[in-house]
Amino acid sequence: MDSHIARVLIDRQRIARRVHELADQIAGDLRVEAGGDGRPPLTLVAVMTGSVIFLADLIRSLPLMMSIRLITVSSYRGKATRAMEARIQGPLPQDLSGQHVVVVDDILDSGQTLELVRRRLEQARPASVRCCVLLRKQTPAARAVTVEYIGFDIPDQFVVGYGLDYNGHYRNLPDVVTLKPEVFA
Ligand code: 5GP
Ligand code: MG
Repeated sequence: MDSHIARVLIDRQRIARRVHELADQIAGDLRVEAGGDGRPPLTLVAVMTGSVIFLADLIRSLPLMMSIRLITVSSYRGKATRAMEARIQGPLPQDLSGQHVVVVDDILDSGQTLELVRRRLEQARPASVRCCVLLRKQTPAARAVTVEYIGFDIPDQFVVGYGLDYNGHYRNLPDVVTLKPEVFA
């Protein structure tokens, strides 16, 4: 697997440091608003499957009472590396009324996924909806989307690792990397 890597874009130490910073930022914003004393509770809604590792690290740095819900949004199919129309698969969480919701996703590219998820979750009448992504591509479309928490801005390149896949593989790479061109051939 390592021989397929073209370049390490963000190594595991940088990711770890940034995830802690994001958690501090989220905790700071929500501590006064979420949980206890009649304040609305916190629910994290994670977009599968790319956000699993980010979610696992982020929540362990978030010392707040919370629930976790998982949703699946399909936008990339198989070997395609360009965005397709985003679709939520299966039911949305139904019990978000009055909750503070933080949507956790791996990467913001065309923005279709997060815009769809935010719009649909707002229909459940939560107290608030915020979005958190590990990565944002430097594209006009991505920059046009409202996201409260962003780990890293990266060039408009296809990346894998730390949860992100190509054709189902490479999610277990600890760093965010690009792949050699022959992998896509
Ligand atoms: P968007 O809807 O913003 O175009 O795309 C978001 C989704 O597409 C992400 O949640 C992720 O699953 C996938 N995606 C976008 N860019 C990349 C990329 O560079 N690498 C990988 N592995 N997935 C990506
Ligand atoms: Mg995704």
